[in-house]
Order: sequence, then structure tokens, then C-alpha cells
Amino acid sequence: MRAFRVTGPHTATLEDVPTPEPLAGEVRLRVGAAGACHSDLHILDDPNALGMPMPFTLGHEIAGWVDATGPGVTGFSVGDAVAVYGIIGCGTCASCLAGRDNECRRVPPSGVGLGRDGGMAEFVSVPARQLVPIGSLDVTQAAPLTDAGLTPYHAITITSRNLVPGSTCVVIGVGGLGHMAIQILRATTATRIVALDTRHEALALARDLGAEHAFLSDADAAGRIRDLVGPAPGGAEVVLDFVGSTPTLEIARSVVMAGGDVGIVGLAGGTLPVSFGMLPMEARVSIPFWGTKAELAEVLALGQSGRITAHVETFRLADAAGAYDRLRRGDLRGRAVIIP
Ligand code: NAD
Ligand code: ZN
Ligand code: ZN
Repeated sequence: MRAFRVTGPHTATLEDVPTPEPLAGEVRLRVGAAGACHSDLHILDDPNALGMPMPFTLGHEIAGWVDATGPGVTGFSVGDAVAVYGIIGCGTCASCLAGRDNECRRVPPSGVGLGRDGGMAEFVSVPARQLVPIGSLDVTQAAPLTDAGLTPYHAITITSRNLVPGSTCVVIGVGGLGHMAIQILRATTATRIVALDTRHEALALARDLGAEHAFLSDADAAGRIRDLVGPAPGGAEVVLDFVGSTPTLEIARSVVMAGGDVGIVGLAGGTLPVSFGMLPMEARVSIPFWGTKAELAEVLALGQSGRITAHVETFRLADAAGAYDRLRRGDLRGRAVIIP
């Protein structure tokens, strides 16, 4: 079968590899759709930084159909439509036992398409416990919901104490994750959404999806937000940063209110100085990572209900490299999804 594999820094290519045989406890999926996440670009830029063994097949946002089951697998039949919960925790630490594999205490962040073969291939084998049924939801929708949907959903869940009616939530970066964040906020809260991006098309998308305000993420951005939320120690109840560069974290720092929440989701490698005086009193900073399997089921239910819809641009597997080029150039509306 063909697979789009990372083989070294800045190098990912389409290769012929054996079709995987499902091991004990595993299920082989015929991949229906696999989303292209900006994290894959971070991996390509520096695969060694994350300590992931190479080569491996990219693609950690996966939906498809059960193709074969390995020894000992029950509860799945050939043809079942499923999405993949991508994080593979140890399964036995206190966090994993509580269903929070995204906080596993034993295994560093890794998963399907992150150090082990992922979904940018015709087939992928995954442990059966990673699968979540998707019912009648289209695989092209289900795939991006497993990360571009799940990660903002989780970030919103852990900052929800502040997302009350009358609050303001600043969403920085309206790409794959950010455009889902706006919809999830719309569907699950009555907060006022202020979106920031460096691209006019992304700001237009933010307004289409329900952001009340959409501003360029430039040197005046914090001032424009302050005009809306008033002076410190008031401010925005929540800032969700889907970029994570030092300039965006500085915007977050300077607009969040006392007691507010800053969620740093983007992996751009910026830093936010955290100490008394640098942030308002009682502010909380979180580093949300992906989400839990239970939250994935909730996001898929939101998708099924039609309350959130991933804006996707589809590509053939042969065009995967082109999809990542477009992602890097910021030349996509929503998410790029590969249809193997
Ligand atoms: P994306 O490329 O689809 O979207 C990024 C968006 O940010 C684009 O619209 C871009 O124009 C915008 N942007 C860039 N610089 C900006 C700036 N200075 N101010 C405002 N907007 C700016 O990327 P994505 O797939 O949505 O991922 C976003 C980030 O989240 C990446 O760093 C990715 O690695 C990370 N990520 C983290 C997790 C997690 O669990 N924490 C999960 C998935 C992705
Ligand atoms: Zn991702
Ligand atoms: Zn664990």
C-alpha cells in the first residue's frame, strides 16, 4: 500500500510499504480520511526534538472503516465506521485509568501518526481501545473532529468556569483548530467571541462562523480588544491561543482579566513569563493537550447534530505533500483532509 511517511527533518514522501497486519488487540482500518495538522509541520521541522522514532506514517486525525480484526478483538465488525482517538497512553497509570490518556504519567505525548504509523495511508492498524464509533457521520468530518475539534473542545472545557454568558473569549489563530473553536464556543456557550489572525480570509471565516469581532493580529490588536473589554484588572475572561508565539502570548497576557484563563494550545514555541505582576491576580494558565476519549465522543456528537462543521479541503494521498505546502503557506480555509 502507499503511505505518506516522515523519514527525517523536512522530509516526507509517498512510499510503498506492506499493508499492516493487525496484532493481538488491534484493528486494521481502511482509512477514509486523514487530516493534516500543523503539528505535523512542527514534527517535520524537528522530528528529533520530540524523540519520535522514524520513519513513520503521518496522520493523527483518522476516520475509516474496520477492515480486519486481530486476535482477541471483540465488539467490532468489518465495515464499522469509526474515528481514532489518537493518544496512546500507558493505559494503567492513575490518569489513564481516569480516562485522561492525554495526561498519562508514564508515556510521553505520542500516538497514532505520532511516532507510530498513522492514517496517511490506505490502511492503518490501531489498538481497538482507540476506536470510537461515528454512526452516520461522514469520515471527512469525523477525521478533523478527532483533533482540530477535540483539542479546542478540551481547551474550552477546562476554561469553562469563565465562559459564562456576558463573558468574552479571545480566539487567536483561525486555522484548523481555531475555526472549530469558534463553532464549539457558539454551540456550547453564550460567550462573546473576538478572533485574531494575520490573514484577512481567516478573519472573514471567523465572522461567518459567529465571531462578533475579528481583528488583525498586529501591534494594535491588544488595544482593540481593550477597547471592547475595558481596562485592567478587567479584561477578557478567556484567551485561547492557537498559535503560541511570543507575540500572541503577549497579546493574551495583556488582555486577560483578573481571574481569567489563558489556554496555550499552539506549539509555535513562544514563552509567557508567569509571575506576580506579569499576569493579573488569580489568572490561570493551562497547556491543554488534545483531549480525552469521552470528550471525543462528545465532539463527534456535536458534529452529528450539525452544530459544528469542519470546513475541509480534500486532497488525494498523492497530493499530501501539496496539502502540507498549502498548510505551511497559510493558504487553506479550515482543514486539509487527505482521502487515501
Ligand atoms: P493552522 O496552520 O491550520 O492554523 C494556524 C492559524 O494561525 C492560521 O490561520 C494562521 O494564519 C494563524 N496565525 C499564524 N500566526 C498568527 C499570529 N501571529 N496571530 C494570529 N494568528 C496567527 O494550524 P492548526 O492545525 O490549527 O494548529 C494550530 C497550532 O496548534 C499549531 O501550533 C499546532 O501544532 C497546535 N496543536 C496543538 C495541539 C495540542 O494538543 N495542544 C493539538 C493540535 C495542534
Ligand atoms: Zn494535531
Ligand atoms: Zn498512563
